[in-house]
Amino acid sequence: MGGHRKRAGRTGRTDRVAELEDELKAAQKTIAALLDKAEEKASHTELKALTSNLDHVVRQRTRALAESEEQLKKKNVELQRMNAMKREFISIAAHELRTPLTSIVGYLDLMNEGRFGKLPAELSRPVASVRRNAHRLQRLVNEMLDVSRIERGSVSLELSSFDLATVVQDVVDEMRPLAETKKQALTADFVSHPVIRADADKIHQVVANLVANAVRYTPVEGTIKVRVDEPSEQEVAGSWARLLVRDNGIGIPQPLRDRIFEPFFDVNTAKHHTSQGPSSAGLGLYIARGIVDVHGGIISVASVEGKYSEFTVLLPGSEHKSAGDERNEQPVQRDPAAAR
Ligand code: ADP
Repeated sequence: MGGHRKRAGRTGRTDRVAELEDELKAAQKTIAALLDKAEEKASHTELKALTSNLDHVVRQRTRALAESEEQLKKKNVELQRMNAMKREFISIAAHELRTPLTSIVGYLDLMNEGRFGKLPAELSRPVASVRRNAHRLQRLVNEMLDVSRIERGSVSLELSSFDLATVVQDVVDEMRPLAETKKQALTADFVSHPVIRADADKIHQVVANLVANAVRYTPVEGTIKVRVDEPSEQEVAGSWARLLVRDNGIGIPQPLRDRIFEPFFDVNTAKHHTSQGPSSAGLGLYIARGIVDVHGGIISVASVEGKYSEFTVLLPGSEHKSAGDERNEQPVQRDPAAAR
């Protein structure tokens, strides 16, 4: 009996252990399930917080973007207004200065010619200096007038048919003394004599500016080569007269090559002119491009800094024909390198 009790007792304990084990397992399951739920909840809350935070950031950024776009628009309007004011100022200043300057320059020229009798010796140098500077000022005023005409799109042309080489020859003759002061070799090569229909004075102005720049930006004993020809059909489609002005001077840094055609720009200081004097106001190439543009031509530059600069001007030849208005056609340069 005792053995049975003992057995029964052992069995009872085993059952209890089994029961307890089951209970433990169930509790573990419940805890695991509870933990899962808690985790799920926590991550859900976290996700919610993150989403709302993201929403906030996106709203903030969108507002900032809209504000900066609005500011940019305002700045743009302001810039346009200031640009218009600057143009207006240049135009008014140039017009107002032109008349008194014409009178000053006129009288100084007459004095220089001795129309008022021989000047006392002590006056001749100062008068010559005043006259020189008055002429420089007059050139600057004229350049400012050209700039405002170009910007208003009101450049008027006096068209005639002439040989481009003749105008270029005139400029070379005029510039030779200047080149000689720097012991530079200035040569002209007229491969052909293309006839163009253009404003001769304005084309003269363009050529003179290019040659004067070549002299100015080429050191002593440098070489300046001017060439007139007609590009072949392979180089440029259509009938064009071409002018090349090449020097072996200081050259133009690559990133600034396009900017030299902007008004008041000076590559050498990489900033706009302030105190270079009226003969170097940084307007020449801007005006040259404006003049070439209204003739339906194109002006471009190739350069290697410290080695050379080569300016190319293409102007429509008088046989230049196109389906529509010949002045609207732009030259298609096929192989500019073949120009050399
Ligand atoms: P600037 O009156 O200063 O010569 P331009 O408009 O004619 O004004 O030229 C603009 C700038 O382009 C010049 O200040 C110069 O830095 C550069 N430049 C023009 N021609 C040459 C050249 N042949 N060689 C090197 N730099 C040149």
